[in-house]
Amino acid sequence: MKRILIGGLHHESNSFSPIISGEGDFKVLRGDEIFENIRDNDSISGIITTLEQAGYEPVPTVFARAVPNGEVDGRFFQQLKNEMMQIAKQERGRIDAICLALHGSMRVEGLGEAEGPILEELRQLYPDIPIFASLDMHATMTDRMHQNADGFAGYKTAPHIDCTETGVLAARMTIYALENQTIPTTAWVRVPMLLAGEKSGTDVEPMISLIDQLKTIEQSDDVLAASILMGFPWADNPDSAVGIYVVTKNDQSKADRLALALAKTFWQKRQEFVFVSEYAKPKEAIDRALDYVAQGLTPVYLSDSGDNPTAGASADHTKFLAMLLEHPDINKLTRPIIYGGLYDPAAVAACQGRVGQTIELRFGAAFDHSSDPLRYTGQVVRTLDRYHYHGMPPGDLALFRVHQVLIVLAEKHVGFTSPEMFRELGLAPEEHPIIVCKLGYLTPEHKALARRGILVLSEGNTDQDLAQIDYQKVIRPIFPKDLDFAYDPTNHLKRGRR
Ligand SMILES: [Zn+2]
Repeated sequence: MKRILIGGLHHESNSFSPIISGEGDFKVLRGDEIFENIRDNDSISGIITTLEQAGYEPVPTVFARAVPNGEVDGRFFQQLKNEMMQIAKQERGRIDAICLALHGSMRVEGLGEAEGPILEELRQLYPDIPIFASLDMHATMTDRMHQNADGFAGYKTAPHIDCTETGVLAARMTIYALENQTIPTTAWVRVPMLLAGEKSGTDVEPMISLIDQLKTIEQSDDVLAASILMGFPWADNPDSAVGIYVVTKNDQSKADRLALALAKTFWQKRQEFVFVSEYAKPKEAIDRALDYVAQGLTPVYLSDSGDNPTAGASADHTKFLAMLLEHPDINKLTRPIIYGGLYDPAAVAACQGRVGQTIELRFGAAFDHSSDPLRYTGQVVRTLDRYHYHGMPPGDLALFRVHQVLIVLAEKHVGFTSPEMFRELGLAPEEHPIIVCKLGYLTPEHKALARRGILVLSEGNTDQDLAQIDYQKVIRPIFPKDLDFAYDPTNHLKRGRR
């Protein structure tokens, strides 16, 4: 039976956040633990089941995942990489291919890209066997990744609901290479654009038609995978850009042609990427939300999008919260609003054991000092021990009420992606007039509840106004920092190594 080395890393690293993501932020699965944690909508699950169904034996290494955050601690990353390489070395001579589940935008403090060095070391150990990987749609393709793998496939949906299918595609490419004893041909074309996920949801144009093109391309008999890798705009590095990536069975010129054509189309549509939802600056957003409340259109959702932890922001920026706390009309509402929430372990600890008490609490700006901590007297409404966010290491939550705002405080750097969190804190979110989340576009779970949703263009490490961000390392010219320049995709075409 042919044996395929598997494993992976999933982290999206925001280089503007001062937080360093360490061991305590990661869920690390080792060896058979990877098989014991199969879950829905997960690329590694798609890889494992596809390989097994085709009669291959997946050989597990390490799979590590964390909520997006700041760059990853260098020593911890080296440890993870060493663990993976140790197994890869032990298995030398007994492995036929490698298939990994990667994010593609993980960055390491002091080192830079994470996925490139992993693939490079595996390639040095195994110069002749096929290496494939699945990627997040927000992956940042790099030379080291491209040169040291035989093919990638990225998600085709945002919000990401096709993670398993993408793992299936990566595994199928691996199987194709093994069964045909061939190395597929790849083409990668860089498109000099920075693009936020909030302007590139796949349920609206222009992404609907761009994704349709990918699917049409993939239906062609000699194409294995076609992907749009959007890059990640809140990381300042020379690789930041959009990438078009096509894998064909054995036709380099076709891979080139398809990738170039798609890159050209993508570039031509650059002005068509607009916010997928209603949006407004903070003050206007509050006014508009209050109007909707007056019309009975509740709950109104406000996304505090400049500080979105699911895109790696620190989740402790306080300016928008301060504005809500001091807003006279918010304080006149008959029911409190929900604010989810702030990452502040010390504030959570200060609430422990004091449910029902009125206390003075300092909260927010615990990590990022571009806003100020707030200090208010309020009531500790509830605490919740060991809240599990998406299978990550658990952390406590506290609910603290100031005036007409119920503030969720989190011990861990979690995402505020589901109303279930509020229910676990004893709230009935549908009964509250306004729900504020530190989030970008609304997840399907929130969307199902929202009568109206406004993306608030607030401040923080995920500022949606990319043209305003002071990038130091991003290669220029790049849209939308630079608007007036010509782009010829043929100058940005890179073919695979073999
Ligand atoms: Zn993503």
